[in-house]
Amino acid sequence: MASANAAPIIEINGISKSFGSFKVLDGLSFKVAPREKLALIGPSGSGKTTILRILMTLEGIDSGDILIEGENLYRMPKNGGMQPANEHHLHQMRTKIGMVFQLFNLFPHMSVIDNVTLAPILTKGVKRADAERHAMELLDMVGLADKAKAMPAQLSGGQKQRVAIARALALSPKIMLFDEVTSALDPELVEEVLNVLWRLCEETDMTMLLVTHEMGFAHDFADRILFFDRGKIVEEGKPDEIFRHPKQERTQAFLKKII
Ligand code: ADP
Repeated sequence: MASANAAPIIEINGISKSFGSFKVLDGLSFKVAPREKLALIGPSGSGKTTILRILMTLEGIDSGDILIEGENLYRMPKNGGMQPANEHHLHQMRTKIGMVFQLFNLFPHMSVIDNVTLAPILTKGVKRADAERHAMELLDMVGLADKAKAMPAQLSGGQKQRVAIARALALSPKIMLFDEVTSALDPELVEEVLNVLWRLCEETDMTMLLVTHEMGFAHDFADRILFFDRGKIVEEGKPDEIFRHPKQERTQAFLKKII
């Protein structure tokens, strides 16, 4: 459970982002406490994935600022448009945040263990033997120690996603971002991935942001729900408040459709 009084680990202040003439985020602000579990819900196209991609510095922002542990993620260059701060700073900030994508994005030509050890060896200079030891612990945690030598093509979707989670954990991030990690899976494989998220929730101190359409899971897992519509947070609150007593019409309409 998050500590409400701690300084925020993530602070998003008035960020806007457009793709061409389409404003996907419009003056968005929110804070996340250390260890908090946050679920981002809302209609498709409301900007949820874009926020995660911005936190991961896969997308820039047009205005506003983002602080991670009090440090600016972006700086404003002279020619306009926010860019990630310099490479060294960016590298440091990136190691604080891990992300798991809807479509796994494993390196297809590398074995499971090589997928997990690649980033620590390349970006942190960890020795191969140490990286492999840590990778085996992580693969054990996601229930795939016996698949270490397998290639991604030999795995089910649920197994690939669990490898992707182990890979994101390999850099020991403080913050984990999960972008619809069960949406591409056959229904019978969803639970094995959600069980891993539960395990992370119970056994680690990580701050977790989850974009999901699994409303039951969001209810049970999250400390707080943010409901997005058209690039804004329309409503936020504890899961029971949002799911049982949504105040805003747009939240009510969305939940009626999806639950
Ligand atoms: P959500 O996760 O809530 O479904 P997204 O953040 O994925 O929403 O997308 C918000 C909107 O921004 C969508 O209309 C999407 O098509 C658009 N969008 C996202 N990424 C890009 C991009 N790289 N170029 C153009 N439009 C994009």
